[in-house]
Order: sequence, then C-alpha cells, then structure tokens
Amino acid sequence: MKFNNKTVIVTGAAGGIGLAIAKKFAAEGANLVLADINMDQLQTAGRQIASPNGVIPLLSQCDVSEEEQAVATVTNAMQHFGSLDVIINNAGLMIFKKLEEHTTEDWMRILSVDLMGAFYFIKGAFLHMKNGGAIINISSIHALETTPMVATYAAAKAALLSLTRSAAIEGKEKGIRVNAILPGAIDTPMLWQNPNIKAGLEQVSKDSVGKPEDIADVAAFLASDEAAFVQGAMAEVDGGRLNRL
Ligand code: NAP
Repeated sequence: MKFNNKTVIVTGAAGGIGLAIAKKFAAEGANLVLADINMDQLQTAGRQIASPNGVIPLLSQCDVSEEEQAVATVTNAMQHFGSLDVIINNAGLMIFKKLEEHTTEDWMRILSVDLMGAFYFIKGAFLHMKNGGAIINISSIHALETTPMVATYAAAKAALLSLTRSAAIEGKEKGIRVNAILPGAIDTPMLWQNPNIKAGLEQVSKDSVGKPEDIADVAAFLASDEAAFVQGAMAEVDGGRLNRL
C-alpha cells in the first residue's frame, strides 16, 4: 500500500471531493486526519472510512480560515500519529453575486477559506514536515476561465495557483513537493447547488461531469513517490472541458 504509516490531513473531508480523497488514502493504508468545519458531518464521514490496517481516523473540527484551528489540527496530527507526510488543502466555498454586489466581507470570507486556509496548512507543513512530504492544493478550472457571479471564488482559486508556485519553489529545498489540481465539474453538492448552473449561465454537459474519485486518484498519484519529480504542477482534471472551442 502506497501510504502505509503515512499521516495524511484532508481538509473539507466531511463530504464531496474531500471524502472521496480520504477514502482513497485510507484504502492505501494512510493514517488519516479528517478536518472539517462541521463535526456532525465529519463523524458521519469518519464512519465511512475503511482502513485495511484498522487505523481509526483522527477527526478534527477545524475552520481552515482560523489560523489557530489549522495549527491545532497540524499539532494534533503530529502528536497522534507521530509524523506529517501529506496535506490535501481541499476545503473551499463559493458565493454567487454580481461583482458590484460583492462586499468587503464577501471578499474576506472567500479569500480566508479558499486561499488563507491553504496558506495556514502549508505554513504548518513547512514548519513540521520532513523531507519527502507532499502538499496538494485543490484549486478549480475557475482559476483559468470563469463565469459571471463568482469573482471572489475565481480570484481566490487563481491566487491559490500562485501560492502553489511559490510554495513549490520554497518547498523544494525542504524536500516538500507542492502541486495543484484544477477540477472541472465534479458530481458533488457544490456543483448541483451552483445557481449559475441551475440558471444556465454555466453550461455543463453530462459527459463533462467527473466523479469525486477522479480527483482522488490524481491526488493520490501526486502525493505518491511515483510523482517524485512533479513539483509546482497545475493538473487540470476536467475531462478536457477547457480545451474545447
Ligand atoms: P463540498 O461538497 O461543498 O465540500 C466542501 C467541504 O468543505 C464541506 O464539507 C464543507 O463543509 C467544508 N468547508 C467549507 N468551509 C470550510 C471551512 N472554513 N473550514 C473547513 N471546512 C470547510 O464541495 P466539493 O465539491 O467537494 O469541493 C471540494 C473542493 O473542490 C473545493 O475547494 C472546491 O472549490 C473544489 N472544486 C469543486 C468542484 C466541483 O465541481 N464540485 C470544481 C472545482 C473545484 P460544509 O458543507 O459544512 O460547508
């Protein structure tokens, strides 16, 4: 198993892509730390994780936008499992508003979760992770091309790519690899609750919708030794949606 005895933190792990990533790493033998803002959903998610080693996941209630909660999650992971090997920065949210209706609070909320949340965990990793560690940031194809009504989200996800680049450069000398995944439309509640899709402002054909497991498979590859030479990559996982004219 690829991640036997490796400690893996997954943020936003209570559902959707995060839960699929957690299940994938569990199946590969990882010691899992599931972090999410919602403890009830986290407990339900934790019961769905089957580890071949019988290792019970550590559940961490964590609002990733609060630095002290991110620090506590990293500290608890190290104390509980004795190491920190992989972080998947997956927690994210979006709001839908016309540009001129966005408030400063809207900007601060989205940037603090989708960008700063990843920064706090990268900082924790750089302070504690040993040579050989890996960080995966879940961005979005909205970092490259976008629609109306999601200015804050698109900007935060684009900035997350920039942060990935900087962290890959500074992580290299520490032996820490940092890469990003840009999911396209993935079949999770976040996709189907998207008012732009409901209103037809963003059109997604059925054959352009991937599964959370499609993202989990790429995350597991990027975190593995098979990707030892992959540093600062921005992997679009969208079924080819962005390539079409
Ligand atoms: P999801 O089903 O909404 O899952 C996101 C998880 O993150 C939820 O459990 C959510 O909890 C949690 N979360 C939200 N705010 C948080 C915070 N401040 N601290 C900790 N956890 C928090 O979304 P998803 O579709 O799986 O998306 C996962 C990631 O993929 C996100 O970063 C998203 O931007 C990205 N992505 C998704 C798609 C897609 O089509 N689904 C496409 C591109 C990128 P609550 O449910 O309680 O809010």
